[in-house]
Parts: sequence; structure tokens; C-alpha cells
Amino acid sequence: MKYLYVAATEEVEREALAAVTGRVAAEFACQVRSMELGSVEFAFDADRRQYGSIPLLDMLLRRCPQDASKLLAVTERDLFIPVLTFVFGQAQLGGRVGVVSFARLRQEFYGLAANREIFLERAHKEALHETGHLFGLVHCAERKCAMSLATTVRQIDLKEDAFCAACARAMRRSPEGKKV
Ligand SMILES: [Zn+2]
Ligand SMILES: [Zn+2]
Repeated sequence: MKYLYVAATEEVEREALAAVTGRVAAEFACQVRSMELGSVEFAFDADRRQYGSIPLLDMLLRRCPQDASKLLAVTERDLFIPVLTFVFGQAQLGGRVGVVSFARLRQEFYGLAANREIFLERAHKEALHETGHLFGLVHCAERKCAMSLATTVRQIDLKEDAFCAACARAMRRSPEGKKV
């Protein structure tokens, strides 16, 4: 039996983690296991004051359990890749490991009043997006689809917490979708 692991770094807010884990389990209709990752300070870039998502994915690959078909990590740390100022997350296309960051999903990050509902909706959408990549889904032109590319929270807010019909079909056809 292969499992979809949802792994948390130590600082992750547990209630939001549980919500995201439940959402992923429901969408991908698979057995989910939890995993603790501890600190990700090794990925801290002192110049940028952010965390490198590439070293983080490397660590996930090294630590990916034998019985994991996929491993989605969740962190509160603000992530970047060298060519971009930040990323909401990153995942290997059709691969084993991905990560989602909550850092920029809260209204407080933008100097606005906290809104739990908005934050959790964004977290669900981004977890679906990165997990979709793990199952081989590419970016979708339909702006409402969870697989459309978002580079701002406004774009995340325009998405629905679901895949469009075409992406849902592609997901069902994915041979990996059936292995989990
Ligand atoms: Zn993407
Ligand atoms: Zn789509």
C-alpha cells in the first residue's frame, strides 16, 4: 500500500495543517499519512531572508518514506527559487515531492486584518495545486481551476477550491492516481 504523505515543518500551524490534510485526502481519495519534518533552517538564505524551496525539495526526496507514493510538505516559511522573488509552493511534475508555504496566504502578510476563511481557502487551493503537479497535472488556462498559475493572492482568490472538468479528467486518467 502506498500512501500520500502530508509532512509538516515544526512551525506549521496545526489546525490549518489538519484542514489541508483533510482537503487533500478528500480530493485525491487516497490514504494519507502524516510526517514531522522538524526545522528547515538549513534552507535559510541569509541574504534574502527566505528559505530555498530547492534545498527543501532535496531534503524531502532524501527523507521520503518507502511507502510514500507522494509527499507534500507544508511550511510557514517564505519560499523562493533563485529566479523568482518568492513562490507559493513548488512540486516535481509527476514526481514524488512538493511543498506549499502558508507564509503569503494570510491577509496579515499584506497588512490587512486577519481572515481565517480566506486563509484556509487559499491553503486548500495551493495544496491541491502542488499535489496536482505531483500527479502530473500541468498549469491550466482556466483561471478558476486550482491548476491555473497564481503569482499573486488575488489570482489565488479567483480560483475555485477544485479542479476544472478537464484537469479532473486528466487526474482520473493519471496511472499514478490509481496507485495511491
Ligand atoms: Zn504550479
Ligand atoms: Zn484545469
